[in-house]
Amino acid sequence: MDKKNIKRSELHIHLDGSIEPLRLIEMAKTHNIILPCYEEKCISNYLNFDDKNGGLLQYLKKFHYPIKILQYKDTLKKSMYYLLEKLHRENYIYAEIRFAPHLHTENGLSLEEIVDAVICGGKLAREKYGIDFGIILCIMRNNSVKMGYEIVELAKQYKNRDVVGIDLAGDEKNYPVNLFKDVFSIAKKEDINITIHAGEASGYESVKDAIYLGAKRIGHGIRAFEDKKLLELIVEQEIVLEICPISNYQTKVLKNIKDYPIREFLDRGIKISLNTDNLTVSNTNLDKEIEFLNKNFSIKEKEIIEMLRNNIICSFVDYEKKEELLNKFNNK
Ligand SMILES: [Zn+2]
Repeated sequence: MDKKNIKRSELHIHLDGSIEPLRLIEMAKTHNIILPCYEEKCISNYLNFDDKNGGLLQYLKKFHYPIKILQYKDTLKKSMYYLLEKLHRENYIYAEIRFAPHLHTENGLSLEEIVDAVICGGKLAREKYGIDFGIILCIMRNNSVKMGYEIVELAKQYKNRDVVGIDLAGDEKNYPVNLFKDVFSIAKKEDINITIHAGEASGYESVKDAIYLGAKRIGHGIRAFEDKKLLELIVEQEIVLEICPISNYQTKVLKNIKDYPIREFLDRGIKISLNTDNLTVSNTNLDKEIEFLNKNFSIKEKEIIEMLRNNIICSFVDYEKKEELLNKFNNK
């Protein structure tokens, strides 16, 4: 397959997990932030996840330095710009980028200042390269319910200004989705698009709960395979699974990668969106994800193209924008 010609897009990519090592060093220097080292290869060891025995909690530790850097308006703006610039070089036409505003308030930035800075970086990249973007605001599972309401409020405020939805991220095992039941019920009433990380560190119940709380897309959703009735519900309600194969492999969602249920999902007609999760933490890109699927499972070329098309069809943008992106995708 000549992958280079296929227009890319993606629905599940974290801003903080996708800062390139050299960019991180550059931004640390401008704010005199101490890093353990200042060479690309060395700092990569602190940013790339390679723990053969680790799970999601070890994976999340790799966000330490990126979060330290992302406490300023200029670094928030630049990191968004750099990420879209990189994606543009890789033939992307659209990306839904997510981040958790509350993680960037350590130096006193307001939630609005944080979102404004990221949008500003995004707009600059859009103007220069023509790549489009949407922003998904994450609620962190270990944060309070009150903070959850703040994210819903923020998403409402920025609804027609590049924010396209909300998410729930972080430690799935210790903080179940139901803690935020009332938060998502308000988001639903406000007609805010919902995606929730589920079925990654916890089992199928977590996916089920996320769907009941209004998620139209599930981040990962891999462990849904444990309950066949749930798989039927996913097909029936056209719930989209945003899969990130290499990240799922790294966080040991399954003991044996051969058990990764991608074939079953496809055969059942589940809508699959293919994503990278974190370019830097997972040391990946869409090419590597495609290669990983080809190598480990018998995924056909047309199925890969279908997943990439789903990245547009299942995005949270309005109908007109979707049509425009689909035209670009179909015309190659
Ligand atoms: Zn994620």
